[in-house]
Amino acid sequence: MEKVVALTKRRGFIFPSSEIYGGVSGFYDYGPYGVAMKRAIRDLWWRHMVELRDDVVGLESTLIMPSAVWAASGHLTNFVDPLRQCLGTCKKRWRADHIKGDRCPECGGPLDEPRMFNLMFKTHVGPVEDTSSEVYLRPETAQGMFVDFKNVINSTRVRVPFGIAQQGKAFRNEITPGNFVFRVREFELMEMEFFVKPSEDDQWFHYWREERLRWYVEDLGLSKDRLRYYDHPKESLSHYSKQTTDIEYEFPFGWGELEGVADRTDFDLRVHQERSKVDLTYLDPETNERYLPWVIEPAVSVERIFITLLVDAYDEDVVNNEPRVVLHLHPNVAPVQVAVVPLSKKEDLIKVARDVQVLLQGYFRVEYDQTGGNIGRRYRRQDEIGTPFCVTIDFDTLNDKAVTIRQRDSTKQERIAVSELADRLRQLVDAPDLD
Ligand code: ATP
Repeated sequence: MEKVVALTKRRGFIFPSSEIYGGVSGFYDYGPYGVAMKRAIRDLWWRHMVELRDDVVGLESTLIMPSAVWAASGHLTNFVDPLRQCLGTCKKRWRADHIKGDRCPECGGPLDEPRMFNLMFKTHVGPVEDTSSEVYLRPETAQGMFVDFKNVINSTRVRVPFGIAQQGKAFRNEITPGNFVFRVREFELMEMEFFVKPSEDDQWFHYWREERLRWYVEDLGLSKDRLRYYDHPKESLSHYSKQTTDIEYEFPFGWGELEGVADRTDFDLRVHQERSKVDLTYLDPETNERYLPWVIEPAVSVERIFITLLVDAYDEDVVNNEPRVVLHLHPNVAPVQVAVVPLSKKEDLIKVARDVQVLLQGYFRVEYDQTGGNIGRRYRRQDEIGTPFCVTIDFDTLNDKAVTIRQRDSTKQERIAVSELADRLRQLVDAPDLD
């Protein structure tokens, strides 16, 4: 983990937020390669969950929502974690369900009695700070989908079973942020509420569990043997859930939740209907039945996927008798998919390299890499940020109109005509040789 953290800082993936002022725990900024990778993750999710399906539509609701929403959803009372503070020398605060015993894990001092701490960030709308102006930064995007349920039904042609998907910032005032960006206080959730007939929840719950795990292995290239399901026991389920399965990954610090798939029953629609007095039932056009749909929700943050991908991809090996650090990222998520590398700074070579760059930019995330010394050094720099393919332009290119593709994992090289380059790279991106 320390090596991954060092690499992300060194190569501009992640920086602590407001670092020159000492930073704030649980907040991170994303540098050039981090942004590229986050965007790739987000776009892949959206493509898979929305664009490639005709039973899921998108939504973007606000980050700030009134107290009434959170009172109805149960978050004001239930979105709490048990907090214990050290009464010894360090005065550190701990999440009671993450530690064992009554002594402080840091200094061994005694701990106070557990008390419940609400994780929502509160603020005020307008110039007067009183209880009537209280609003909350959303701790999940899901409530936006529930309060807009009627709007979506009335304005589109969706029919149960169907889903509403949303990506966007969420905020949780975590007691103990940590393990780098595994647990942060500001993050980007990707959630999909899939509305089903009340009696069909089990069947859809199992469908989404499997579908989501498949996505991690096939589209993101995560190691299958480091993923598993964890079914929550009944007594530890969230207040809205009938059944929840976490897709877990084996991190360096142990198994941890990557994504949660929850059967939220009709809890959310029911409480919003009760509190708002707006009819949120769905009229089945075929049977003329009226009911509140049940909901299956796969939920994951971009950050959680991001750290999982980096941990899974990090490797140190030896190439041509030289040690290298390499990220075996799937080409779908690599911040740079193709690096264009001219062998020298000679003008006619650079001109061809720039043409190749423009050609490839239409299809891939491309970086032009002219600096940084000899070719081996440049390859290793690209290996370190996970670039799966380097395209090298050499002196022969000027005569034979061909370039060399060098693969990151095998370091295999192949000569190919520039006219066939984009097609060949497309093939390699879609079916990479990840060994
Ligand atoms: P925990 O009990 O670990 O605090 P949770 O089970 O309440 O978390 P969920 O509400 O199930 O978390 O969150 C859904 C998903 O959102 C998680 O699977 C994870 O991908 C992501 N997530 C939740 N909290 C954080 C966080 N603090 N930082 C980054 N991602 C998070």
